[in-house]
Amino acid sequence: MPGCEATARFLPFPMRIRAAGETDVGRVRARNEDALLQRPARGFVAVADGMGGHAAGDIASRIAVDVLDERTAHLPDSGRPEYIRESVLAAHQAILKAADADTSLEGMGTTVTALFVDPDMEPARCILVHVGDSRAYRLRAGALEQLTRDQTWVQDQIDAGALSPEQARGHPYSSVITSALGIRNAPVDVQLLAPDCAPGDLFLLCSDGLIARLEDDELRSILVAHHDLHRAARALVDAANEAGGPDNITVALVQLEDHD
Ligand code: CA
Repeated sequence: MPGCEATARFLPFPMRIRAAGETDVGRVRARNEDALLQRPARGFVAVADGMGGHAAGDIASRIAVDVLDERTAHLPDSGRPEYIRESVLAAHQAILKAADADTSLEGMGTTVTALFVDPDMEPARCILVHVGDSRAYRLRAGALEQLTRDQTWVQDQIDAGALSPEQARGHPYSSVITSALGIRNAPVDVQLLAPDCAPGDLFLLCSDGLIARLEDDELRSILVAHHDLHRAARALVDAANEAGGPDNITVALVQLEDHD
């Protein structure tokens, strides 16, 4: 029947989205300035890594995830990638406004990396937004691929052929980032990506504290060794701490599965 065919074509085939995350102060820092947002019911997770004196880093990263949380609770029917990009810029403005209202917060900033799996799209569509040096990876068929580009001085040098990745890792300027939210009079370079996604994919978002002492292959080994997402997230944090935990560590895992 033609009617049945039409119905079948428009039947939703939503993927199941599972998520787990951990955020940890690490072994050296006195405060955790990272922020983690998990909203698996609407396919959204975010990691932010704040910076600034006193308590300002915590505040900047919290504002970033709160603005994204609020704005992604009500998505427009069309133009969602651009809407999410604008939401990152709204978070930037909100951080500047908070610093205007309290001079002790002046100079605070944050990275942000957020993944949105669009629940209304078939086939599924993923939107990734990124500013700074947090990262997103995708594990597919046992291979781990970094999806975001670090917005750092050392990454610029690697791309220019002036530093090797090994030299960059221990470089005194390795923590210098070239774009962040909340930095006054500096353009925000929002990376907007649409990574391919399919059932079976596992996405990892993390702050740079996870990868300060761990290589990508160590991340991959931990992810493939743990089928339970919560245990995988905990194992990543534990490994970063066992390697010295020099920075705050935040991980968000998103597993895409066929709906059964
Ligand atoms: Ca950090």
